Amino acid sequence: MSEAAGKPVPVPDKLTEPFWSGLGEGELRLQRCRSCGHWQFYPRAWCTACASLDLAWERASGRGEVYSYTVIRRHTAPWWVRELPYVVAIVQLEEGPRLMTNVIGSDPDSVRIGQPVLLEPVPAADGTMLPLFKPA
Ligand code: ZN
Repeated sequence: MSEAAGKPVPVPDKLTEPFWSGLGEGELRLQRCRSCGHWQFYPRAWCTACASLDLAWERASGRGEVYSYTVIRRHTAPWWVRELPYVVAIVQLEEGPRLMTNVIGSDPDSVRIGQPVLLEPVPAADGTMLPLFKPA
């Protein structure tokens, strides 16, 4: 992560660039193993199910459900204080992997475990699209 306008922004590298460029095109792209079909997130150089190095990037549905969450009500960094209260959630994607994100677009106190959510890419301060989610 680096910081633009104070708030940390992602720094894509060779391994993660397809993930970030996909979000720039409105798609959630995940690695999928060509040997065993396993979907994985976060990006790695090998399949975490079978250790194959034969991985491809595929478009995921962008659908999932809230696996767990918390509502953040206090923070010390000014760029986060502006967004209080906000939801930090772990979303279970339809394809299997889980990712940590924010659920936006609803009252933070209405978020529930098991709630269906949809990808909602939102620009970071530098324009990089972030994989946030909204209620489905
Ligand atoms: Zn595999």
